[in-house]
Order: sequence, then structure tokens, then C-alpha cells
Amino acid sequence: MLNIVLFGPPGAGKGTQSAKLIEKYQLVHISTGDLFRMHISNDTSLGQQVKQILANGLLVPDSITIDMLEEEVQKNPEAKGFIFDGFPRTVAQAEALDAFLEGKGQKINGVVQLDVDQEEIKTRIAERQKVSGRADDDAEKLLKRIDEYFSKTIHVLPYYAEQGKVVQVNGIGEIETIFTNICSAIDAF
Ligand code: ADP
Repeated sequence: MLNIVLFGPPGAGKGTQSAKLIEKYQLVHISTGDLFRMHISNDTSLGQQVKQILANGLLVPDSITIDMLEEEVQKNPEAKGFIFDGFPRTVAQAEALDAFLEGKGQKINGVVQLDVDQEEIKTRIAERQKVSGRADDDAEKLLKRIDEYFSKTIHVLPYYAEQGKVVQVNGIGEIETIFTNICSAIDAF
């Protein structure tokens, strides 16, 4: 099993790189943001519960997120491994993921931290909003998401760094170059 966390701020390119990684490594991609958006567009009860939270750029409570994530992993018993994109976003989520994987005799092999500065994030998301139509991509909501990232999510890094699992990759540059650098990191996990 190869279980990887792709870590980085909103707009770091996690989705773009995940799509390339799953093809190369034959892993299952789990994006909690995509899952929440799917629930919202299907108007499920979970979707109704989280709709306003996403629209406001805030984090969904840990218990809801963790339950959804675990359910998604259980749906893929044949997987060779997973790419976790947008999860864990809090230390409590990271701890829950470790405990969950340990119960299955598995672990996180490594964490790829995509490094992108705030100016670049704002430029990219302003561009993305023109096509994504995501309500949480507007400038004010984006600031909230960046705020959530730097107040809560960033603490996930030392959690994994203590386990010696974090590799930093420059997230600015050509998509192919970034991909090659991520692959080198993964191949060394
Ligand atoms: P981005 O990385 O561009 O901010 P995502 O698609 O990963 O976008 O997430 C969109 C939204 O979904 C987040 O702003 C948050 O409301 C919710 N969300 C996604 N993953 C998590 C998580 N692990 N914990 C809590 N909320 C989450």
C-alpha cells in the first residue's frame, strides 16, 4: 500500500497533481472538498448540513469530515493505496487518520507539501473562479479559507514532520516539473 497526503493551501495545485499521480501510481484519489461538493450538488442530508459552511470558506467539523473520509476508504477495499487531497486539515483529523489506518495494518507513507505563496494563491484562484463558479472562490471567502489554512491546517505539518514524513516541493512553475519533483519525493517514501 502507498498512502500519500498531498498538502498545501487552497489553489496550491493539489487537484491538478492528484489527477496525474493517480494515473501513474494507480492510487485512489480522495478529495474531501470534491466529496462535499458532490453531496451538495446531490442535495444529500450531509450536503445540506455542510452547504453553508463551504460557502463561507470555513472548515467542516472534524467528526463529519472524518466519518465521510473513512466511509470513502472502506468503499475501496481493492485499492493499492490512496492520495488524500484536502485531508487531514486539522491535527485531530491527522490523528484520526493514523488510528484508522493503523486499525487496518496500514499507515501514511509520506506527505508532499506543495509550497505556494499567498500572492500566487490569490492570483490563481481569481483565475479559477472565472471557470469554476465556486462560491467560495470569491475574494472575501478565499481570505477566510486562507485564514483557516494558516490558523488550523498548517499545524498538521509539524505533526507529520515529527514522524519524519514531510517532503516540501515547490508548487510554482511548470505543472510537469512540479509533477516530476513530486514523483521523486514519492519514490523515496
Ligand atoms: P481548496 O483546497 O481549494 O480550499 P477544497 O476543495 O479542498 O478546496 O475544499 C473546499 C472546502 O471544503 C473547504 O473550504 C472546507 O469548507 C471543506 N473541506 C474540505 N476538506 C475538509 C476537511 N478535511 N476538513 C474540513 N473541511 C473541509
